[in-house]
Amino acid sequence: QAKSDPSAKCVRFRDRMRRLRDEHRAIKKDLERALQKNEFILYYQPIACTRTDKVVSGEALLRWQHPERGMVGPDDFIKIAEDAGLIDEIGTWVAEQVAHLQHRLHNLQYAVPLALNVSPRQLSDSSFLSLMQSLPLATGCDPSDISLEITESVILGDIPNARETLTALKHCGYQIVIDDFGTGYSNLAYLHNYPIDGIKIDRMFMEDIGTGGEIVKLILSLANALDAGVVAEGVETIEQRSWLSQNGCNRYQGYLYSRPVPEERFLSMLETQSQIAAM
Ligand code: C2E
Ligand code: MG
Ligand code: MG
Ligand code: MG
Repeated sequence: QAKSDPSAKCVRFRDRMRRLRDEHRAIKKDLERALQKNEFILYYQPIACTRTDKVVSGEALLRWQHPERGMVGPDDFIKIAEDAGLIDEIGTWVAEQVAHLQHRLHNLQYAVPLALNVSPRQLSDSSFLSLMQSLPLATGCDPSDISLEITESVILGDIPNARETLTALKHCGYQIVIDDFGTGYSNLAYLHNYPIDGIKIDRMFMEDIGTGGEIVKLILSLANALDAGVVAEGVETIEQRSWLSQNGCNRYQGYLYSRPVPEERFLSMLETQSQIAAM
């Protein structure tokens, strides 16, 4: 009988909402502590060449080393950090780390460009632009070897000042790359209005390769028309890699090559590669 009682349903719903809100509040507090106590860490996932299988760049991916919950992935806290107004502070930390690493890499023979993810929310905040403008002097990084990965929602036009900010970032020398391409509804007619250097084909399209890859071919020719570089994301099989190589997609990222790894491991992968090349 309680089952069909609408007021009981209402109470259950309210309880659930309250629990959710309390949970969010707890995570927000947790995130503030994480920032203070340096609990964030960047992993790097190599991006490799489909023909030579050499590492050609690396993407920084954020993790949270939670004292009780262990390693927490970005999908479980970025959204909350955005809502809690903490993404700017976290994003600043990420950008500084990547800039420092890029500078460190710069002096090595085996240097490769790096990429970092930028939340749409950061783009509408003017402090992000000033931060990025200050990094070359502050860290010695070379912005032309740093890609900023943004999602398609930015192109949709619902982010205030996005185009101006991206143009200014581009002017600074940074590479602008569209992440998870094909998952949003980016207005294709708008794409050429943005200073885009590359696109990353979302991993959901890797399934398409198994059935002929017509959509991936379409995205590849679109990228070609835009004169943008392409990376295929989420490549998990040798078949996918060979298909990409045969169809003119030179760069791939995915578990087939490597999972995201700690910074030191990423550096040793690069070092090993350069030693092999020297043999
Ligand atoms: P993303 O930028 O599209 O990054 C690729 C995600 O796919 C990563 O998940 C990576 O571990 C995963 N991945 C890579 N290869 C494969 C594969 O072969 N198969 C499968 N199934 N997955 C693969 P991760 O690290 O959990 O990051 C998730 C998302 O969180 C990222 O997607 C990015 O949008 C966001 N993110 C990560 N770091 C940051 C950051 O520093 N700032 C912001 N704002 N967002 C971040
Ligand atoms: Mg990315
Ligand atoms: Mg992606
Ligand atoms: Mg993603």
